[in-house]
Amino acid sequence: MSTDEFRAKALAWLQQNAKPFDDNEPSSGGATIEESKAFQKGLWEAGLAGITWPKEYGGQGLGTAEQLAFNEVAANFRMPVGPFVIGLGMPAPVLLEFGTEAQKKRHIEPMLKGDEIWSQLFSEPSGGSDVASLQTSATKVEDGWLINGQKVWTSGAQFSDFGAVLVRTDPTRPKHQGITMFIVDLHHPGVTVRPLVVATGDAPFNEVFFDDVHVPDDAVIGEVNNGWSVAVAMLRYERVTIGTGVRARANPLGYDALVELVRARGLDGDASVRRTLAQVYAKESAMRSYSAVLHQEAKAGVPIGARGSAAKLAGATFPLWVSDLVQDIFGEELALQNADTLPLTRSILAAPGGATAGGSNEIQRNIIAERVLGLPKDAGVDKNIPFNQLKLSK
Ligand SMILES: Cc1cc2nc3c(=O)[nH]c(=O)nc-3n(C[C@H](O)[C@H](O)[C@H](O)COP(=O)(O)OP(=O)(O)OC[C@H]3O[C@@H](n4cnc5c(N)ncnc54)[C@H](O)[C@@H]3O)c2cc1C
Repeated sequence: MSTDEFRAKALAWLQQNAKPFDDNEPSSGGATIEESKAFQKGLWEAGLAGITWPKEYGGQGLGTAEQLAFNEVAANFRMPVGPFVIGLGMPAPVLLEFGTEAQKKRHIEPMLKGDEIWSQLFSEPSGGSDVASLQTSATKVEDGWLINGQKVWTSGAQFSDFGAVLVRTDPTRPKHQGITMFIVDLHHPGVTVRPLVVATGDAPFNEVFFDDVHVPDDAVIGEVNNGWSVAVAMLRYERVTIGTGVRARANPLGYDALVELVRARGLDGDASVRRTLAQVYAKESAMRSYSAVLHQEAKAGVPIGARGSAAKLAGATFPLWVSDLVQDIFGEELALQNADTLPLTRSILAAPGGATAGGSNEIQRNIIAERVLGLPKDAGVDKNIPFNQLKLSK
């Protein structure tokens, strides 16, 4: 099938199964988990999921051209695939890179088909920026490992089936060296998931407790005590996923949605409002172009390096910047919860979270400073000391 035929096939399927962007529903289309699962399954059955991934694991085995053709067409549709963004964006590529043959055969296809939802469990109450300070432990037992401890801010854990969980397996080694990543069944009776409610009233993430959760030896991703390199790879995939995922059309803080609201309020003749919209348009267009280039390169296997941090930083600072501008335009009306401004208010409330999720703005700036500008690295005074000799905060 030529690329044009593939594009036509994708378009035909999406026209039949997804809604175009020009309606007034939220970006997820308000879909339930079951509806999202059904959509993802349909996408896979139509040969439109895992486009560049190997056929033997349920992918389509196609090339970058087909992926780009799909992206181009899909940008015009609302696809209720939110529950799969983490699994397919982070744990799945990590499994493809580090997983055993059995792990890839067991998990990749169910993830692509929407049968398995995955979470990423790195952050702990003791700190998320310094992931290597994690204290959740796994102790070796005869037939596997016992996990005990707590994770926090775990997006989507309330509806996930599996998690990629980072734990300490050897506290006698320095902090980066005694870490292992495990596949954990989140339905295990020793796993407790408690949703955390944020300012918008939603509960997008959770705290997750592990009490003697038994995992078999073959649940290790990569090698025991070498989980830091697996974690670094996952954080790299995370930055690519977040940094190249700018979908401004779906965002109430994006240009199209703002123009609609400005017109509805009869403010489109106001010169200062028009100037603000022009600034939003210019910045958003630049960000989309940068994001599209990185997306293409990432899909083609070109390492995007610290540019992923630059894209993530831009994607996180843009909504904060627009939030200030739109509060000047719409003022106190944003507190009234009117039907057409409510999505905007919710986006303003959610914007600070974007500056923390997936590595905070400060951490992205550190990465850019060190890797792009060549500034000196943090001293890392604790990096050669055995973890169990460090003074830890709980
Ligand atoms: C919406 C959302 C979704 C999330 N989803 C997940 C998830 O699915 N899985 C998961 O594991 N985690 C998730 N997180 C957690 C996220 O990764 C952490 O919140 C983040 O890494 C920061 O960690 P922290 O909150 O512990 O803050 P800290 O690490 O305690 O940082 C506190 C402050 O200090 C700053 N800081 C820390 N270290 C430095 C430094 N070296 N230089 C300069 N400034 C520094 C930070 O920028 C921040 O402002 C999510 C967070 C959010 C907001």
